[in-house]
Amino acid sequence: MASFKWNLKALPFGNQSVIYHLDGSFFRENEPTRIFAANVDVDFSISRKSEQDYELAMDCHGTLNIECDRCLEEMVHVVDVRYELSVRQEGSDYDDSNEHVLVVPSSWRELDVEPLVRDTVLLTIPIMHHHDDGECNSEMMDALGRHSVTHASENEEDNNDGEAAIDPRWEALQKLKKNN
Ligand SMILES: [Zn+2]
Repeated sequence: MASFKWNLKALPFGNQSVIYHLDGSFFRENEPTRIFAANVDVDFSISRKSEQDYELAMDCHGTLNIECDRCLEEMVHVVDVRYELSVRQEGSDYDDSNEHVLVVPSSWRELDVEPLVRDTVLLTIPIMHHHDDGECNSEMMDALGRHSVTHASENEEDNNDGEAAIDPRWEALQKLKKNN
């Protein structure tokens, strides 16, 4: 694999590009979402504009095998994203608060783009992600469904002194879930 570390000071003016191929081992165990496998190509380029200004661009295409929120089985998530970022060497502080301009200390010789590549790919995963309707593992769904039905009937027994005990918001949520 091509190095993720770029020697900023020694970089010639103009454009350098490289392809990073990301597989499952690129992603750590403590990602926000479980990654079973990955097959993503990143067309990465870094362009030096001046003594202290650089432009990065990454085109990421491929697939991640992640955990479905509904049935907890493996599902395929398609990655198709381009991210551009300006890097400026200035002062003594690292500042990544701006989405489009990263400021790194002028003393830095090297820029490690590995975390930038990783975050760019991971941010394509929606907070809620699941198989298309009807494509979840039905055995798993049955098991999970039985579990929540049991809970619902227990609650009904506890609250059988009046219909008002059921929070209307909860009821609406249950209906929404069924329709999904
Ligand atoms: Zn599923």
